Amino acid sequence: ESGPARDDVIKGTDDDATVSRLSAVDLGYLDDPYVKHFVKRASRRPPIINRGTFLRTHALDTLVENFIQQSSDCKLKRQIVSLGAGSDTRYFKFKRKGLAVDKYFEIDFAESTTKKAMTIKKHKDLMDVLQGQQVRLGMGGTELYADDYCLLAADLREFELEVLPKLKAQGFDTSLPTLFLSECVLIYLQPQDSDAIVEWISKTMRAALFVLYEQIQPSDAFGAMMVRNLKARQIEIPGIYAYPSLESQEQRFLSRGWKAAKAVDMNSLQTEYLSPAEMERLSRLEIFDEVEEWQMLAAHYCVAWAHRVQQSSGTAQDAN
Ligand code: SAM
Repeated sequence: ESGPARDDVIKGTDDDATVSRLSAVDLGYLDDPYVKHFVKRASRRPPIINRGTFLRTHALDTLVENFIQQSSDCKLKRQIVSLGAGSDTRYFKFKRKGLAVDKYFEIDFAESTTKKAMTIKKHKDLMDVLQGQQVRLGMGGTELYADDYCLLAADLREFELEVLPKLKAQGFDTSLPTLFLSECVLIYLQPQDSDAIVEWISKTMRAALFVLYEQIQPSDAFGAMMVRNLKARQIEIPGIYAYPSLESQEQRFLSRGWKAAKAVDMNSLQTEYLSPAEMERLSRLEIFDEVEEWQMLAAHYCVAWAHRVQQSSGTAQDAN
């Protein structure tokens, strides 16, 4: 498959995630009044997919919320950079609850950001969140800039050439504590491209947190089936071979100068990080009989996070 055709397939993966999110919202797993604006044709997903969508969103939301809370507690300026944001509604969800950082940047291909910018402009409840801010479209409608929110069109494979200049033009500051978010994104890149991003951040940012969610374990029967099913839809996930395990997910950060890294699969996430009350609530939402299938699916998705703070200011010194 040639490059541009492959890119088109990858751009389409966001629709899938968004339809699943709306399914989880409609059944009461998640509270997100905005996701409906990004879905053309809603469809109800099976219980294991709804549970997966809930856990993934809940885990990343918790990490993002902690980061935002800390910034308001110590009155420090902070930034969030969402890589391959697609139709992610987090900025709007959090801002609505009064949770905001100084700059929230979202990056995706121009097709995706154009659609998102148009959707934001079209819906009053999304524009209401940006109330009081000056909202401008730019770059032929492919980008949108508000005071604390920027939607930028760039190719992540050209991080230093395309992404960074765009970020910097909108006030991105390498000296501010910054959360980088990749929800099902780095896995679509060739490892040399995702590694370049992870390494640039650790070399350059004064203080950074990376939060990632993606598939692992391609080699057992379930994993092989997962990869085959994607391939049948022409979707390639080269990252899964470079980072196939929890340990290699941690190493992708630790070997590139990050101070600490932790990766957990969705099974441990459910047992260790979800309260009994939350589990009880989930069990009331819909009948959930596919326990074995769920455990298998959950073993093939991980959340990883890593952080790094440079000890001396200004220079790229190793903090280890
Ligand atoms: N993060 C969103 C979520 O979890 O709902 C979207 C995930 S979707 C599976 C993957 C996203 O990454 C798509 O929106 C796609 O366009 C974007 N993406 C993949 N490769 C990219 C690249 N090289 N440059 C910019 N965006 C990219």
